[in-house]
Amino acid sequence: MASTTIFQKIINGEIPCEKLYEDDLCLAFNDISAQAPIHYLVIPKTPIPSLRECKNLDKNLLGHLILVGQKIAKEKKLSNWRTVINTGAESGQTVFHLHIHFLSGRAMLWPPG
Ligand code: 5GP
Repeated sequence: MASTTIFQKIINGEIPCEKLYEDDLCLAFNDISAQAPIHYLVIPKTPIPSLRECKNLDKNLLGHLILVGQKIAKEKKLSNWRTVINTGAESGQTVFHLHIHFLSGRAMLWPPG
């Protein structure tokens, strides 16, 4: 059986989070180690390890996650933000439950490190 990730524990309510949004499909909350003045994550409630495992069936869910992040950005009156999905350890993924980062509030460099 796959081990329970920290995000599954947040979904289960076993670990607290600064929740920004929740519905039947997803949860959004502030990142505990913010890399920008605004840094939140949108995660599906279903435990997909990463974008690598997503299937055609997940296309509505993926669109929903991005639009939930956009809704939060609009509520925060952001006009610029960066959206990041790390896929695999070498890309920087540390939690193997799909999540989308939304970062804002400072100038971003390109290319990312
Ligand atoms: P990754 O590196 O996998 O793309 O992103 C994982 C993110 O989850 C990191 O930015 C990290 O700070 C965040 N994170 C890890 N553990 C927790 C936690 O317990 N609570 C919250 N709110 N964020 C977490």
